[in-house]
Amino acid sequence: MNNNSNDPRWTDWKWQHSKSCQDWETLERWFKASNAPLPFDATDLHALTSIYRMGITPYYFNLISNFIDADPIYRQIIPHIHELKISDDELDDPIADDNPARGSRPLKALIHRYPNRVLLLPTAQCAVYCRFCFRKRLVGDTSHNPREEDLQAAYKYIESHTDIEEVILTGGDPLTLGDRALEKILQRLDGIKHLRMIRIHSRLPVVNPFRLTDTLGSMLAALSKPVWVSAHFNHSSEITATARQYIQGWVTKGIPFLNQSVLLRGVNDSPAALKDLFMSLIEIKVKPYYLHQTDMVRGTGHLRVSVEEGLLILKQLQGEVPGYALPHYVLDRSNGLGKIPLQNIYI
Ligand code: SF4
Repeated sequence: MNNNSNDPRWTDWKWQHSKSCQDWETLERWFKASNAPLPFDATDLHALTSIYRMGITPYYFNLISNFIDADPIYRQIIPHIHELKISDDELDDPIADDNPARGSRPLKALIHRYPNRVLLLPTAQCAVYCRFCFRKRLVGDTSHNPREEDLQAAYKYIESHTDIEEVILTGGDPLTLGDRALEKILQRLDGIKHLRMIRIHSRLPVVNPFRLTDTLGSMLAALSKPVWVSAHFNHSSEITATARQYIQGWVTKGIPFLNQSVLLRGVNDSPAALKDLFMSLIEIKVKPYYLHQTDMVRGTGHLRVSVEEGLLILKQLQGEVPGYALPHYVLDRSNGLGKIPLQNIYI
């Protein structure tokens, strides 16, 4: 437990957001308060965070039960010296988000990879900075935040492409935006006739579940189009009583939830860990949607599981969980052409 856990503002999502650990002094203080040794010194941390920023909410830090690399929360969020090892086949932009040659990035705030759906990027800020992130080159960098004119251009693009049926808000993390900013974006999208649904991708249900406020949930539920939320739980220990309570609050309002996980070495790379994760998600009415193969992003080799190992784990899971609890195991192609399913062949 760090020193802040008794603070009366603990359940205020904005307080959690503002108290995110982003520097050596805070990290050192939190480790000391937890009677845990730091695995590196200030110089090492500076080397690590100069290439990829750090961000940890007090709530998420408190989910660490053992201050060792084998702890599934610790491993996802505490910088690791292995991030400085970069292999030749690792890339800055492993799924070619920025590759304009393909035409998939017509605008700063919009990616159009599939015919009937687009990604809208309303912010590059996140609540935490996950060590495995495939957009680590840009998340947290304010120069990647869209301006109002970028958003307006994106709305116009969506309006003029009547084959677009779904808009997916991603980033960064859209739920780091305030209620008013989100409402403005969502109401604008809600008014586009040919859109059928809106999706929000967010890690806030995991790292700052207090963001799922009653007010915001009611605003989403009041829109004319369904808003699906895709959370990002990677381990069952992230599904705390608090996360359950706040997700249930939104589910009760009729907001459906999906989940995307990343297959991560030392976090969830066993049939038992994945079974526990998927069953726990179903229990809280969150449908496991995708299990992502870790992208070939720079400095993530220590977290990556091979496709062969991933397929073997999924084979062992077959029959262990109901079919509706099994997500699609997918790989994002490095040429920017989207996902391909990874499947065991049975016949
Ligand atoms: S919250 Fe999502 S976008 Fe942000 S660092 Fe984590 S994985 Fe990347």
